Amino acid sequence: MTQSDIDPTFRVLVVDDSRAIGLAVTHSLEELPGARVDYADSLAACQRFLERQGSDYDAAVVDLNLPDAPDGQAVDIVLARGIPTIVLTGMPDLALHDRISQKSIVDYVVKQNPGAIEAVYRDVRRVLRNSRRKALVVDDSPSYRAYLRGILETQRLRVIEAGHGKEALDMLKAHGDVSLVVTDYLMPEMDGVQFTATLRHRYASSELAVIGLSGSDESFLGVRFLKAGANDLVRKPFLLEEFVGRINTCLDHLDDIQTIQDQAHRDYLTRLYNRRYLFDRGQALVRAARRARKSLLVAILDIDHFKRINDEHGHEVGDRALVALARLLQSGAREQDVVARLGGEEFCLLAAGVTDPEAMLNRLREALARLEVPVRDGVVTFTVSIGASGDLNNSLDEMLNRADKALYEAKQSGRNRVVMDSEWLDTVYDYRV
Ligand code: GH3
Ligand code: MG
Ligand code: MG
Repeated sequence: MTQSDIDPTFRVLVVDDSRAIGLAVTHSLEELPGARVDYADSLAACQRFLERQGSDYDAAVVDLNLPDAPDGQAVDIVLARGIPTIVLTGMPDLALHDRISQKSIVDYVVKQNPGAIEAVYRDVRRVLRNSRRKALVVDDSPSYRAYLRGILETQRLRVIEAGHGKEALDMLKAHGDVSLVVTDYLMPEMDGVQFTATLRHRYASSELAVIGLSGSDESFLGVRFLKAGANDLVRKPFLLEEFVGRINTCLDHLDDIQTIQDQAHRDYLTRLYNRRYLFDRGQALVRAARRARKSLLVAILDIDHFKRINDEHGHEVGDRALVALARLLQSGAREQDVVARLGGEEFCLLAAGVTDPEAMLNRLREALARLEVPVRDGVVTFTVSIGASGDLNNSLDEMLNRADKALYEAKQSGRNRVVMDSEWLDTVYDYRV
């Protein structure tokens, strides 16, 4: 997830003839940020929604048996439109398993279970999340790769393939956004256990999940996979539900870690990095800039007379001004730049290799002055003062101190302006080892 990620809207269709269950599912899904949920209590109503919306649903939750569709017809109709589908059923038995396994559904949930509503909620959230995630399948058999790809794509994951461990390592380098690896053991060039051990030099199990596959006659192999750093292992042949359950547990785990890290690293209101994390990221940026012999711009921005906005329009409008500023600041930044909220109405930008920082910051200042925050009877605008420094002979702390002094000068000399640390102009970065 990037800093600028905001919750997009998405549509879910719920189909169940029991209004109690249908509405409970609908209300629970409406808790997801950005959700728009349509509820149909029959096949006929479901068809009306599909005619109106076309295939424009991001997920569907469909009862297997409806009075006007006793044999799963509603599920088939929704699936035929390519909509990721979660099926509501009775207790599973082998017959149900066989029947359901024929269909490319995301999951089925047993209605009678007390946790059913929660299970549906998690399934829908996963479908939305998985479409942004990539999985790598590593197996030397093209037909088995295709089989695994099919399962993962049904879960809405994007899938890439490799025929052995060496190729897989190259693919991981080329695709920086892989979250899940499913790897066989016996392969030419590099086997699955060696591959897992090697990739763990670069990727922690909290950022990349690995599931090892082993044959049923290789009982000790599972241990070797786990000791090499696999998150889990699945024995072949497996039941679909078991394999999918393990994938999802691994991905949920990655999600939980991401959430915890976000909570620790980001500011709740603006979703920008917080002051503490700025120092972690900033040190790495200073080191990289020194290696590349590039200048590093350290700029501190502070809204002018922000207290007045709060006083005149209320704290909530003040908050929206902060969010608007944060969005603009982040959207203008490059991937390698760091944008953070230092606290209150004070923000920081770290950017390496900016050729004319003063001109750049003035453009930013002008763009911020054009921002309009809607209020009941019009719009609120504001200006910012910016102080900046940036020679690389100093530590990040020192550069921030200098930027802060420059900011103070900008405020003293009338606000709505950029002041560069006096040493900036004549300091040519002097590389020291
Ligand atoms: P100056 O031009 O000198 O920077 O004046 P200022 O009013 O912007 O600065 P001052 O430091 O006097 O006031 C900052 C205000 O920002 C006071 C505080 O209540 C408000 N503030 C801090 N954090 C938040 C927040 O998260 N939301 C809102 N709405 N206000 C905040
Ligand atoms: Mg201020
Ligand atoms: Mg302030």
